[in-house]
Amino acid sequence: MPKICWEEHTWPELREAARQGRVVVLPVGTIEQHGPHLPLATDCITSREMSRLAVERCPADAVLMPQVHYGFNEHHLDFPGTIAVDGPTFINYVTDIGKSVAHHGFRKILFINGHGSNVPFLDIAARNITNRTPAICALAPWWTLAEPAVTEIRESEIPGGMAHGCELETSVLLYLRPDLVDMSQAVKDINFPPSKWIYWDLQKSSPVTFMDFFSRFSRTGINGDPTLATREKGERVVECVVNNLVDFIKEFRAREIAQRVDHH
Ligand SMILES: [Zn+2]
Repeated sequence: MPKICWEEHTWPELREAARQGRVVVLPVGTIEQHGPHLPLATDCITSREMSRLAVERCPADAVLMPQVHYGFNEHHLDFPGTIAVDGPTFINYVTDIGKSVAHHGFRKILFINGHGSNVPFLDIAARNITNRTPAICALAPWWTLAEPAVTEIRESEIPGGMAHGCELETSVLLYLRPDLVDMSQAVKDINFPPSKWIYWDLQKSSPVTFMDFFSRFSRTGINGDPTLATREKGERVVECVVNNLVDFIKEFRAREIAQRVDHH
C-alpha cells in the first residue's frame, strides 16, 4: 500500500503524490469537554479516525495530513480541559496550512471536521484557500456524511438528542475508542431551552442560528442522550461516513478546475 500520511513521505515522494493529483485530507478537531463520560479529544478522534479509514480505502487517491487539534470553542471554557482558539487566529492558521499545501502542487484539499462550532470558520478558511491559491478546498463535517445511517439508528428525540456528547458521538466513540468511554457516567441531559426557532441537533439545523455558553443550559457539559448509545450504532455510522467520504474523495479528485474569466 502506498504511504498515506503526509508527514511520513520524503520530499521526492510527496512531489510525486502532488503530480498524481491526490486529494489532501485535513482532519480538524477540537480539545474540549464532552461531559463526564467522553474524553476531551472526542472531536479529534472522530475526525481523524474517519479520515484515516477513508484514505486507507483509496490510498492512490488521497493523502492524510497531520490533524489540527485545536478549534473554536470559547463557549465551553466554563468546563475544565477546553482549549479555545480565537476565530480569526483559527481561520488564518488553517488558511496558511492550505496555502502551503497548494504551494507544493496539490490542487484539491478537503477538510474533515469533527466539531460543530468550527464550521463557519473552516468555511471561510476553505474559501480563502480557493480564492487565493490555484487549489480548490472543500469542507465536510463528518455527521453530514452520516446519512442514511443516522436516520436508521436514531432512538433519541428530535431535536436535541444528537448534539454534543450525545447518542451519536457516544456511539461513534464506543466503536472507535471504547477504552475512553465510561458509560457508567453517561446521563441524558437535553436542556437547551426549547424554541420553535432555535434548537440544536446534528441531524437537523434550526432556522435561527444561536449558540450560548454551555454552562448556561447544561449541568453535565453535554446536550443529548448518550444512554442510548451502542457500539453497533457507532459501527454503522462510521461505515456510512467512510463509504461516503471515499465516494466524495474520488469525485473531488476528478473534478475539473475551470479557467477563471476576467470580464473587465
Ligand atoms: Zn464533539
